[in-house]
Amino acid sequence: MEATTFVLFGATGDLARRKIYPALYNLFLDHKLNHSFSVIGLGRREVADEAFQAMVERSIRDFSRREVKDSASVRSFLKSFRYNVLDVGHTEDYKKLLQRVEQQEKRAGGSPNRMFYLSVGPEFFETIAFNIKQSGLGNAKGWKRLVIEKPFGHDLLSAQELNQKLSEAFTEEEIYRIDHYLGKPMVQELDVFQQSNPVLHALWNNRYISNVQITAAETVGVEERAGYYDHVGALRDMFQNHMLQLLMMLAIRLPKDSSPDEVRFKKKEVMEALESLDEGDVQFNVVRGQYTAGTIQGKPVQGYLSEPGIPAGSTNDTFIAARLQIDDPFWKDVPFYIRTGKRMKEKSTRIVIEFKEPLKQSSSAGENDIPNLLVFEISPNEGLTLQLKARDPQHKGKFKAMHIDFHTSSIEVPEAYENLIHDALHGDPSFFAHWNEVELSWKWVQPILNAFDKNTVPLHTYAAGSFGPAESDQLLAKKGHHWWLDTAEAANGVEEEENDVSLPDASNF
Ligand code: NAD
Repeated sequence: MEATTFVLFGATGDLARRKIYPALYNLFLDHKLNHSFSVIGLGRREVADEAFQAMVERSIRDFSRREVKDSASVRSFLKSFRYNVLDVGHTEDYKKLLQRVEQQEKRAGGSPNRMFYLSVGPEFFETIAFNIKQSGLGNAKGWKRLVIEKPFGHDLLSAQELNQKLSEAFTEEEIYRIDHYLGKPMVQELDVFQQSNPVLHALWNNRYISNVQITAAETVGVEERAGYYDHVGALRDMFQNHMLQLLMMLAIRLPKDSSPDEVRFKKKEVMEALESLDEGDVQFNVVRGQYTAGTIQGKPVQGYLSEPGIPAGSTNDTFIAARLQIDDPFWKDVPFYIRTGKRMKEKSTRIVIEFKEPLKQSSSAGENDIPNLLVFEISPNEGLTLQLKARDPQHKGKFKAMHIDFHTSSIEVPEAYENLIHDALHGDPSFFAHWNEVELSWKWVQPILNAFDKNTVPLHTYAAGSFGPAESDQLLAKKGHHWWLDTAEAANGVEEEENDVSLPDASNF
């Protein structure tokens, strides 16, 4: 990695403290940062470099996945951190920042590169990009890159306008749009599994796959973000970005050793093949939900409308489930079911692939129904499980599930932000959202936003601590399908069974 100045807007914010500094620290421990790598943190308040370094130290002590033990290595890490006052709207602050960056680059020598990381509210994205250009900060002698957090727009039009503004200061190749689900190690494995494993490669199509189920469930409610969340909802907050990215990553078919451009081209093809919904069809393919009071992990919790800061009668969606169809030769007639929600029974993100059962007579799920499943556990646990239907030797005529199971320990696995920051520093855009993907995602979602705005889709309720409204189950039942693994045990991975075939060492992966 070449000498780089990492210019961090929003250096005192929550994301910087919880994710960005711990990620940089772990990259440092793994010798993945150049010795002349340096950070200039920006914020409105006057803060001395030493006080800023102390804040970074607290953040890595609190949030690093690896325990902070060696004081000498922490000191060496913190030496790279400087702080500069900057108010996003003050043009003279950018000029002072430029001087500071140039001083730093002189010290580092080599061909200086600049990475601008926008960890600030989306209302500042355009102003910052404009001022980087106007002030001369954008005239790096080496490369320059812009890393930008979500949300990228509020709907199709605002996303297009934002992109237009950013493109006046940065080219598409210089923009790295973070979708942190793409940084999760299991998501980064998806294409490798199906490309390099002949069994999975052969099965990855509509001949063998019955349906795909993608779930991202949270147990938390709106917490302190009521003002923000009530204008956004599950559709914008999770579905348009993270969930559709998971769908793309699962459905792409890549030639071996694909370049980042090919990955992005194939993802775009998936989005283009997604059958679009008319506003009138939304009610038949999408379930909108909002939580009411309930119990989570034994504790009573209030309903959405009683949360502080939520206006009476809000129709905001805290849950969404949808059925999507990809109209291409590989996936035609394989429903992709996606659901995401707050205040659900368990915290988990997983993809379940249900295989077709060639000899099965009826399409409805029965009492003795054991599906053949491939399960990708994405978070909080990382793992892969193959569930096979097997004869139950103790009960004649019955079947039971046999599991082949891998799980990794969270301490061994790099955090999403480590992977993403590392890739951005190395100029690898494979796991960042290209503008084409973002625009096509908004285009797909826009009729749903319109239908929600006009209230032409019913708002169903679900008790906190459940798996969403009953209508979400009915969405699958219409085609003889069923959400699998909705059990308490699933929160801890698939339960151990007597005849599990578990490989001893997860590092075999
Ligand atoms: P935050 O409110 O905690 O921090 C915002 C930062 O912006 C602070 O450092 C603040 O000082 C700075 N700031 C505000 N106004 C400014 C101004 N006028 N001039 C200069 N600096 C100013 O927000 P956050 O949670 O850290 O989120 C930052 C970005 O990351 C947002 O776009 C958010 O949507 C996104 N994001 C956050 C999370 C998370 O877990 N926190 C997750 C995903 C995405």
